[in-house]
Amino acid sequence: MKFFINVIVPLALADSFTYEVNENEFHYLKIGMRVAVPFGKSKVYTALVIQKHNNPPLTYEAKEIQEIIDSQPIVNEKQIAHWQWLAEYYMCSLGEVYRNAVPSALLLESETIVVYKPKNEVLISDLSDDEFLLYEAFQSQAVLKIEEIISILNKKNIFPIIQSLLQKEIIVLNEEMIETYKPKLIKYVRLHSDFDAPEKLKDLLEMLSRSEKQRTLVMKFFQMKTLDKKPIPVKTLLEEADVSNTVLKGLVTKDIFVEYTLAEDRVVFNEVENQEITLSDFQQIAFDQINESFEKFDVTLLKGITGSGKTEIYIRLIEQFLKQEKQVLYLLPEIALTTQLVQRLTKHFGNQVAVFHSKYSSNERVEVWHRVNQNSEKAKIVIGARSSVFLPFSNLGFIVVDEEHEPSFKQQDPAPRFHARDAAIVLAKMHDAKVLLGSATPSLESYYNAYQNKFGLVTLEKRFGNVKLPEIVLVDLKEKQKRKEMKGHFSIDLLDEINETLSRGEQVILFQNRRGYSPVLECLTCGHVPQCPSCDVSLTYHKYQEHLRCHYCGYTMAKPLKCHVCHSVDITTKGFGTEQIEIELKELFLNRNIARMDQDTMRGKYAFEKLIDSFKNLEIDILVGTQMLAKGLDFDNVTLVGILNADNALHFPDFRAHERAFQMFLQVAGRAGRKDKEGKVMMQTYNPYHNIIQQVTTNDYATMFKEQMYERLNFKYPPFYRLIRLQLKHVDYQKLKEGSFWLYNYLSNQLEMPVLGPEEPSINRIRNQYIRIILIKIPINVPLNKTKNDIRKSIKSFEAIGAYRSIKTIISVDFY
Ligand code: ADP
Ligand code: ZN
Ligand code: ZN
Repeated sequence: MKFFINVIVPLALADSFTYEVNENEFHYLKIGMRVAVPFGKSKVYTALVIQKHNNPPLTYEAKEIQEIIDSQPIVNEKQIAHWQWLAEYYMCSLGEVYRNAVPSALLLESETIVVYKPKNEVLISDLSDDEFLLYEAFQSQAVLKIEEIISILNKKNIFPIIQSLLQKEIIVLNEEMIETYKPKLIKYVRLHSDFDAPEKLKDLLEMLSRSEKQRTLVMKFFQMKTLDKKPIPVKTLLEEADVSNTVLKGLVTKDIFVEYTLAEDRVVFNEVENQEITLSDFQQIAFDQINESFEKFDVTLLKGITGSGKTEIYIRLIEQFLKQEKQVLYLLPEIALTTQLVQRLTKHFGNQVAVFHSKYSSNERVEVWHRVNQNSEKAKIVIGARSSVFLPFSNLGFIVVDEEHEPSFKQQDPAPRFHARDAAIVLAKMHDAKVLLGSATPSLESYYNAYQNKFGLVTLEKRFGNVKLPEIVLVDLKEKQKRKEMKGHFSIDLLDEINETLSRGEQVILFQNRRGYSPVLECLTCGHVPQCPSCDVSLTYHKYQEHLRCHYCGYTMAKPLKCHVCHSVDITTKGFGTEQIEIELKELFLNRNIARMDQDTMRGKYAFEKLIDSFKNLEIDILVGTQMLAKGLDFDNVTLVGILNADNALHFPDFRAHERAFQMFLQVAGRAGRKDKEGKVMMQTYNPYHNIIQQVTTNDYATMFKEQMYERLNFKYPPFYRLIRLQLKHVDYQKLKEGSFWLYNYLSNQLEMPVLGPEEPSINRIRNQYIRIILIKIPINVPLNKTKNDIRKSIKSFEAIGAYRSIKTIISVDFY
């Protein structure tokens, strides 16, 4: 009898492949273990065993595997089933799911590049003979390919050695950057609680009558404390009092002052203490309703306004599932994954919390993977971005999808182009787990599901501590301009409000949904606007670097002095972005600290966390940013949010534009006013009577929902139709045009439903590839699998035509 295994290889190939193993290997191997397999002429891949059997393949001779990598499965059968669902639903191959799901360090292949980059000094005595051989090789060449390693060691079985060097942190793969962020440590000082009251000053001064300098320090402290309630940094106090650190140390020894550091991103105004949190009455009611809802529904939507304390409710629910010995997954949109939430959860759950995030190094991700796989105490709760739905959970009880409306839950590239919320719901079903979707502004899809009784619905309409929702004031730009009540892009009203807020020692957030200085340069003589040579877009002007940049491919050129077309020097900027706002602010508020948060300033790995840290530490007065600011950040001291131009978000050519604008504005507005401070939002717009703007000011989700749903139904969009988008790409415009028409016609004949296209998108060329879009609208009551099969077959026929074979087809199901 012969022995075979079926494996997935991490490639965009639809099927699994059969390899032959010997009897011993067969009995040793379990589903979910990795094996190294030869593939094609000379490649080796890390493949995953998904089946064991005795049937030789019919159409080819099975090769033998090269080696077994694992002694235990690293993937379980529930996962494989989930991945199979993903591949089927999102119309990609199982190999693509596998490749995207597993951390790259677990997927060594012959092309992998290994880089010598020891984290610490290498302990030679710790190395095995083979490891030492490689160590020596690295001394003359810091980068080696797997093939080179095979020849250096003169053996094929090298994956375990690489694995071990990775674990010892001597090498990294593919020049991966390993960098860790340590939050800035600021040392603060406060009075010991025995003396922390204004009337204690006299006693203190008497006590210290023998030390002039200590008295100076104490007086200065009281002075600063009454001026400003911010925490007082040691450095500032010593400077202001003009005494040395020894003076302070003396007072600390006497238990008069206490020094403390804030290692975290959060300024605490009183004591740094771990208070036990009890739910408010409203939270308790919501909590009970959620539990009740879980008895009837697998998925429940919690619609709770910003600041209503959804996180505390999640924490209570998580506790409950941990008590039942279950694993918990807490999904967040990528950018919102700040230290903030991690700290909030670790405070409650200690080191049961693990974080899984694409910004983490491959090693760190592998570690979380193994912990989840072993159902370890250290990974009972995983906080993660969308890729954490791929982790090897074996006993999942509860999934929280926070900010469920966020478009970034949908993966654009590479395949699988999945929606993490939807993938999470399917995953939960496989584990018999419960899902809670949370948002202040739910997606129309989820709200509709609740409306149709497919999901449970619980609402929370009060902010915690009865803090009021911020008042939203509209500023009519047309009118302000007529009356000349503008300075740059700021209305006088907004400037006055900023001034007032700052003078109270509070902070301001300004929102402009566009980065750069101003979108475009325009020639006043001939109207020419400089374009990217490889993409169909205008270049964006960045003043700081004095250059023009393409936001699609990164192409840059120096700012031209003359028009390229007519040589006129009359060139001007049109529109405005965050950079220009920042510059105007710096001129208007000379003595204030102003910072900017957008994709241009957030390039470093931890740039985002660092900026949040300094904003929380009150080192920044005004923060200007794009929608990055809208994502679930909680700042205690922000009482004013300004939206500089509400209009461009409304005029986006996308059927979700209005829904998104509503969500974005309410989320940004939600940054204003927390704890005991009421907030205010000022929204500058040319269209104060636009429906969406009106619905934002009155926080009227219900009307927004009704109106948008009507449009969706009318124009055949989700949730009444499922959309499948085919994106076709080629460098040759004509060939693409012909090919896309061919496919369009073919699909139109095959499918009895609306097929649109093959449209040229508004940006019809990116990185020199022309683009055409075909959109298929599947009525919700039509069987999806049959339609998908028809689409697959059509694409196969298309690819069988020689002339069109080089046209790339990218499928996005439920595209965003
Ligand atoms: P949401 O996520 O709904 O916008 P959060 O969970 O961030 O709201 O809560 C808003 C603020 O209220 C946070 O600063 C949080 O610490 C505080 N808070 C919420 N619930 C409680 C509670 N039960 N006890 C104490 N503080 C709470
Ligand atoms: Zn010109
Ligand atoms: Zn470009």
